[in-house]
Amino acid sequence: MDISVVVPLYNEEESLPELSQWIKQVMEEHNFSYEVIFIDDGSIDRSFHILRHLSQKDPHIRAVRFSRNYGKSPALNTGFKMAQGDVVITMDADLQDSPDEIPALYEMIKEEGYDLVSGWKKKRYDPLSKTIPTKLFNATARRVSGINNLHDFNCGLKAYRKDVVKNIEVYGDMHRYIPYLAKNAGFRRIGEKEVKHRARKYGHTKFGLDRFVNGYLDLGTLWFQTKFGVKPMHIFGLLGSIMFFIGFIAVATVIILKIVSLCNPDFHFYLTKSVYFYLSLAAMIMGLQFFLTGFTGELIIRNSQERNSYQIAERLGPGED
Ligand code: UDP
Ligand code: MG
Repeated sequence: MDISVVVPLYNEEESLPELSQWIKQVMEEHNFSYEVIFIDDGSIDRSFHILRHLSQKDPHIRAVRFSRNYGKSPALNTGFKMAQGDVVITMDADLQDSPDEIPALYEMIKEEGYDLVSGWKKKRYDPLSKTIPTKLFNATARRVSGINNLHDFNCGLKAYRKDVVKNIEVYGDMHRYIPYLAKNAGFRRIGEKEVKHRARKYGHTKFGLDRFVNGYLDLGTLWFQTKFGVKPMHIFGLLGSIMFFIGFIAVATVIILKIVSLCNPDFHFYLTKSVYFYLSLAAMIMGLQFFLTGFTGELIIRNSQERNSYQIAERLGPGED
């Protein structure tokens, strides 16, 4: 099979017939063998009812319905597990992404050798309250992830080599950073294609302004996981040592001042009035906390399934393992 189109959706009843018809038309024009996988993320409107009708009429259409609204990332992850096509294309259900882009995206994966191609909505039809923070968000994401050629990390329209989607796990709200996840899994040929964007035709956006706060927090989490995910002691041990060092200097200063005050009746030193005393206490407690956090992290990793799972790119010579 050439292409799997994965469409996450939450309450998009108005768009579905038009979207599936449009995808079908593009696929038939280009003679692609394909499937369209709709993931209904717990819609409370008639979305799934409509999908049932569509799938009865068209064998290319597959659909699953979540029992409740889990989010866009879980929906994508489920679609990725189901996908069978050589190239997997994700798009939003709200008709903001155009199926006309599919052939060119397919070409970039198949012919130009990209692992992942992300759409770039250069001209956007979204309110300013969204487009301006998005620019900032993308600049940060570029810096943190080191993927410098992407303008639009969170574009819903993306194409992947099948290998990529089978080897990444999108969870929480991490759909914003799929290129970063792919890069961490060793897929480095990440490209971009300018795509046409359209205003939302029906319904309304499913994400509020908290998307930016959550987006930044998730980026921090990913960065941390990438750097220290399997070796937390490298960061917590370092912080603990710094604190320990500060505490040591502070304690030494307190002791020296005390000795001086004992030898010299004109010099009064009161332990509880000294900043060094409090500094030494705080530093010791914090240092200990850092070390304990580091050790706890190491213990958790020691018992995690992931601790020794590596992505093998190629093998040579006889034998399976
Ligand atoms: N979506 C989803 N689950 C959610 C929220 C959104 O599957 O909890 C889908 C939504 O139906 C749409 C896509 O994710 O197909 C993008 O959402 P939306 O258009 O609201 O985002 P925006 O375009 O405003 O960034
Ligand atoms: Mg949208």
